[in-house]
Amino acid sequence: MLIDLRSDTVTKPSAEMREVMAQANVGDDVYGEDPTINALEERVAALFGKEAGLFTPTGSMANQLGIRLLVNPGEELLAEEDAHIVRAELGAGAAHGGITTRTWYANRGMLDAQAPLKMARPNAGPYLVSTKAIAVEDTHNFGGGTVQDIGQIAALHAGAQELGLALHLDGARIWNAHIATGTPLVEYGKYFETISVCLSKGLGAPIGSVLISTTEQIQRARVWRKRLGGGMRQVGILGAAGHFALDNNIARLAEDHQKAQILAEQIYSALPSAVDPKHVQSNIVGLSLAESHLTAADLAAAAKKSGVLIGALGPRYARLVTHLDVTIEQAREAAEIISTIVRER
Ligand SMILES: *Cc1c(COP(=O)(O)O)cnc(C)c1O
Repeated sequence: MLIDLRSDTVTKPSAEMREVMAQANVGDDVYGEDPTINALEERVAALFGKEAGLFTPTGSMANQLGIRLLVNPGEELLAEEDAHIVRAELGAGAAHGGITTRTWYANRGMLDAQAPLKMARPNAGPYLVSTKAIAVEDTHNFGGGTVQDIGQIAALHAGAQELGLALHLDGARIWNAHIATGTPLVEYGKYFETISVCLSKGLGAPIGSVLISTTEQIQRARVWRKRLGGGMRQVGILGAAGHFALDNNIARLAEDHQKAQILAEQIYSALPSAVDPKHVQSNIVGLSLAESHLTAADLAAAAKKSGVLIGALGPRYARLVTHLDVTIEQAREAAEIISTIVRER
């Protein structure tokens, strides 16, 4: 049995989840008649104290709809340079929305509110591009699962208010941040105009994200989703998986964080320069191989031979992600295998 630590997207729906999907009450969602998806959209919005939600097939679509609501063609979004919106959505903001992006750098993706606030140029007049919104990622994926400080988020919100800028949260793993910090979900809802959340990462649903905002903004997003070909029909089949994920799989993320600690601590003792366990705050373990003879591809290939799949995301950067289809026992086994490889070379 392979231990797959490439991503928390690799989870497969459990038998119980498939059962509720099979039983789902459905209708045509393009007509607004799918009761399961309507309830899911309302439920996710309510969790964050928002008015309305919109189910999307991917987190990328939820992000793109979110930033499109806040930034018009030819206007500017600020984002951290390793943000998913910048690196992993293939220029969608520019390709579909005419959005221009400027980035700031943050060590491990950790938000310092002053960085984007200093760069912002709102109301830049007729000759220069105007900043309209700032995107924050929590937890920060390519930063190594970094959990943002709520004080920095609050400071960013205060500064953005003064400048007349909107905030978007890429909350693909906001559930992990919530569990890691105990920050209530409604607290995040206070600071961001638009929030995207994934049901298909740590929560274990096969497909699905939700964009949440005001009723008016979500009505606009619904039109754009259809325009992009994202109007879905009996989508309550997927919505039921989302409800199941929210019912059962939020609190248990603490276990995934524990598994990540197990991996980080053991790999640290074999190769201290690879990872600082203190920096592992959620379910992602980023490994730096800068001081190893191994490249990330070497490590991934050697681990695969021993039955562990990991991600080689850069020449010297590997990523391990824990999730509900990896047991604590398997995390220990993978930690042993990876430690042995990095120690030997
Ligand atoms: C996975 C992820 C998304 C969404 O990805 P999709 O594959 O489009 O669902 C968005 N943001 C972050 C930070 C992610 O890790």
